[in-house]
Amino acid sequence: MSRIPEMYGSLVFNEKVMRDKLPKDVFKALKKTIDKNTHLELDVANAVAIAMKEWAVEHGATHFTHWFQPLTGTTAEKHDSFINPVGNGEVIMEFSGKELIKGEPDASSFPSGGLRATFEARGYTAWDPTSPAFIKDGTLYIPTAFCSYSGEALDKKTPLLRSMEALNKEATRILHVLGNKDVESVATTVGPEQEYFLVDKEDFKKRMDLVFTGRTLLGAMPPKGQEMEDHYFGTLKPRVAAYMHELDEELWKLGIPAKTKHNEVAPAQHELAPVFDTTNVAVDHNQLTMDVMRKVADKHGFVCLLHEKPFDGINGSGKHNNWSMTTNTGINLLDPGKTPAENIQFLVFLMAVIKAVDDYADLLRLSVASAGNDHRLGANEAPPAIISIFLGDELTAVLDSIEKDTFFKNAQSVAMETGAAVLPHFMKDTTDRNRTSPFAFTGNKFEFRSLGSSLSVAGPNIVLNTAVAESLNSFYEKLKDVDEKDLCDKVHELIRETIVEHKRIIFNGNGYSDEWVKEAEARGLYNYRSTPDVLPVFVADKNVDLFVKHHIYTKSEIESRYEILLENYAKTIHIEAKTLSDMISHMFLPALMNYTDKVMTVAEKKQHITSVSSKSEIKLIEKLSKWYESIDELNDKLIADRCYAESMTDSLETAKYYRSTILQDMEAIRKLADEAEEVIPKDMIPYPTYADILFYV
Ligand code: ADP
Ligand code: MG
Repeated sequence: MSRIPEMYGSLVFNEKVMRDKLPKDVFKALKKTIDKNTHLELDVANAVAIAMKEWAVEHGATHFTHWFQPLTGTTAEKHDSFINPVGNGEVIMEFSGKELIKGEPDASSFPSGGLRATFEARGYTAWDPTSPAFIKDGTLYIPTAFCSYSGEALDKKTPLLRSMEALNKEATRILHVLGNKDVESVATTVGPEQEYFLVDKEDFKKRMDLVFTGRTLLGAMPPKGQEMEDHYFGTLKPRVAAYMHELDEELWKLGIPAKTKHNEVAPAQHELAPVFDTTNVAVDHNQLTMDVMRKVADKHGFVCLLHEKPFDGINGSGKHNNWSMTTNTGINLLDPGKTPAENIQFLVFLMAVIKAVDDYADLLRLSVASAGNDHRLGANEAPPAIISIFLGDELTAVLDSIEKDTFFKNAQSVAMETGAAVLPHFMKDTTDRNRTSPFAFTGNKFEFRSLGSSLSVAGPNIVLNTAVAESLNSFYEKLKDVDEKDLCDKVHELIRETIVEHKRIIFNGNGYSDEWVKEAEARGLYNYRSTPDVLPVFVADKNVDLFVKHHIYTKSEIESRYEILLENYAKTIHIEAKTLSDMISHMFLPALMNYTDKVMTVAEKKQHITSVSSKSEIKLIEKLSKWYESIDELNDKLIADRCYAESMTDSLETAKYYRSTILQDMEAIRKLADEAEEVIPKDMIPYPTYADILFYV
């Protein structure tokens, strides 16, 4: 279809529009800001604002908004119209450079983890010219960073941009040392694969748990789950296909290169992947994708569930963060390439990633921790909670031969000497697949697979960029004063040292096996099983040092974020607990009572007929009454424990209590309720069942 190229990006103030709409010198100045991170003058901003407004109004926009990413993990927006009254009851459409550059939302209700209390109540949004503005629902969206009066970051974009700059600086420096002098900058790239569920809107509305918590807190498995593995890559149902079609088009209009779509493993589960982009654009696009997914779903009578574990007993949803580094000259630094010289560069960057993941595995684990993701990690459907790297047989053999100074045989079994000067030659894309590894090399990029489906991809990329910047920085310190003639030897030595020190993080086997848990422990790898377990690593000295050294977070920014994460965890489970109690008291127990009553009526009637026995009815009544009593008692305990939790003051202790006590209470209730659900007649179950939701779309 030829109209797609015209449609693509039609709602984006992209480079082409800027070139058409802006005076030449303004375009040049803006481009310099975008490409080289230079300061933007107000007169340039004014000219851009005028062009932006004209373009937006031409496309039907009446409002603009500074779009930002507060620490809630979602996005925020406040819309202002372009209108400006000029007397006589008339208005003109206006938008100034000042309004473009800076916004001042009354942001006192966003989480700040105490930062704003200590500093200022005000928050500012600042235009991020490196992520293009776009139009959505009649509003011009301007991507912005969000910070406090004194410059503390209150969002996810600011530290992300800082981490990209740190990596840029360190990567460029090391490339220059390696003799690659024409590289001016290095950007990280990300392609996030997004999983989601589609459920019918009518079913959704009848399930309080889905409405309030995004996941089902009750629900017995139907006779069929995902055991036949017939949904993965299966034919799309027409309703789902229509949804995906419109979703693609809406994303394309917004300049989001949606590329791949398919059914996933669980029934009613699907996936969408775009073509990768520069990290901060990819982060914005992923937020926007999740938003558009929900909106389009609504139009099609669906609700799009992005929770990590909407249904017990079948797979939950994750997000794969494909990550690499690219130079401004267009070289993917994680592409093994074909010549030994390129291999040196590749191996340096590969080792930088391996070292980073080993040194900061705790932070990577932290970056994907959430109440929702706790249901997946380590549950044999997502990667294990232990962070390790899958390299594949070939790369592992390459590193092995460097370490031992032996011959390396590549895929074609051609022997190659791995002497000091010539590093081994190997072919890319011979990596086999491993689905259980949290961090896998996939030919020319790494795939971090531990992310939950609803997570902003900013967090994991902040950690990844910063940790790799730190590795590169330590390499630089070792190589910067080396004579050119010794460089090859020294690089080789450095690679070998790094292999010896960090090979413990490499694991190509089955991450689901019990042996791996033991083996990982013997290797000294971290195994943080839950969010409250891992959150304290955020404030560990070594991690604070890392972030402070690279100017990603100040100490107080870390402490505030740590507080928010703890609070957020407790609040999430608190809401779940309240929702469950409500469903039990107002829906489930009454249903159980109704059914008991019905059976009792039958039993009573039967007593008048001497030739029939009411034995089975009485047995059933006993069973139902027992469930009723136990569930009621457990619910009382849940309510009491929840009240106790509310009285707790230490946020780490509170989070731990929600994990160890409240979640256990909820599970105990669910176990009995799900047993009972299987006995209650279909028409008496007070909400749509798993079978209704998962198989009748
Ligand atoms: P899979 O087989 O795991 O589904 P794909 O080959 O479909 O993987 O790619 C998954 C994602 O990886 C896509 O979003 C793709 O654009 C992205 N990707 C490819 N190359 C890079 C790169 N150099 N940097 C970041 N992401 C990349
Ligand atoms: Mg993948």
